[in-house]
Amino acid sequence: MTGEKMDGPVLPGLGRRAFLALAATTGAAAFLAMHSPGVAAAIADSRKKLLWLRGSGCGGCTASFLNGGYPDVLAALDSVGAVITYHDGLMAQQGITLDGVSKTPDTYNALKKLDLLIDSGDYVLVVEGAIPNGPDGTGKYCTTGGRAVKEIFSEAAEKAETIIALGTCAAFGGISSAGRSVTDARGVAYTGASRFNGILSELNMRKKVINVPGCPAHPDWFLLTLADVLSGAEVTVDDYRRPAAFFSKSAIHDTCTRRGSYDQGQRDTQFAGEGCLYGAGCKGMITYADCPVRRWNGGVSTCTLAGGPCVGCVEAEFPGAFMPFFNRVEDRSLISGTNVDLGAKVILGAAILGAGVHAVKRLAIGDNDNEGDGDEEKLSEKRSRRGR
Ligand code: SF4
Repeated sequence: MTGEKMDGPVLPGLGRRAFLALAATTGAAAFLAMHSPGVAAAIADSRKKLLWLRGSGCGGCTASFLNGGYPDVLAALDSVGAVITYHDGLMAQQGITLDGVSKTPDTYNALKKLDLLIDSGDYVLVVEGAIPNGPDGTGKYCTTGGRAVKEIFSEAAEKAETIIALGTCAAFGGISSAGRSVTDARGVAYTGASRFNGILSELNMRKKVINVPGCPAHPDWFLLTLADVLSGAEVTVDDYRRPAAFFSKSAIHDTCTRRGSYDQGQRDTQFAGEGCLYGAGCKGMITYADCPVRRWNGGVSTCTLAGGPCVGCVEAEFPGAFMPFFNRVEDRSLISGTNVDLGAKVILGAAILGAGVHAVKRLAIGDNDNEGDGDEEKLSEKRSRRGR
């Protein structure tokens, strides 16, 4: 893996390695309980505002966040020194807006609060959901208060120090951009595996983005990443700008509770049995996240433990490259447009033998336009090909 380090100090009394190791192996609640004094010291004066913008998606990442298992989500946010100042879904939308113009006094208009927050510029921007670019680049397939979310995002991103793209729709387009995507939905920095098709590229903007994917994202991934961002700690991200501590250490398959069944050849073709779910279409071999260790709903369970196959929801090419969800990996006839029936078997063998994580992923699920950030020539060439 070729990680990229973002600048910034580590937490007081807690080295970067220790921070990442702890963050990777403990839940947010446990981590914050153990280290909230250190975190608090690092961000004592922060009280950083969060501007939480929602685009095209189901709202599941907000629901997942609220079901985080922490005794109190607000207390968790407090522990990391953050305040949700604007949230498209949680705050009451007040006031009457007609074609983007407030028709009621400002004090009763939620969108006016959004304007004031953007004017202040002192916030971390959290984006949930993809951002439609259509029709014809106007972004008007998705509006809030009569304004295209693309336009609101553009203004909010301009002033944001950091953008956290929360959930696979915001990170990579996800289900919102699946198939032919009539809305031309984009991720913030990436669409699929291409960093040239994110909405930021469309807007000709460059910003610091951390992708926290998942359909939905795990609340720990978000809270711990936010703690990192607010404390100014170094964050090592992987090739898709995901915190490496959560998404690059091992495949789901490596830590799955059903791995013993796999090794013994006990493979089910139905859900919720006792054996490995490989025959039911599990994509755990080509999906990299710590779900089996971290677990969901307060550490109770995870997809494979509950008897459902992993569908690869944290990966950049989700859902297209992982469909049909319930077919075995090598039974998919087309992967990224290429018939790899035999190749997939070789790749799976390589995965099991521990070949390079990203090499295997690129071979298995396809990869395009994922050049390094410094590759300006290719970026400008692509832009000129697209007429900009
Ligand atoms: S259920 Fe999936 S992740 Fe678990 S051992 Fe089987 S193939 Fe691997």
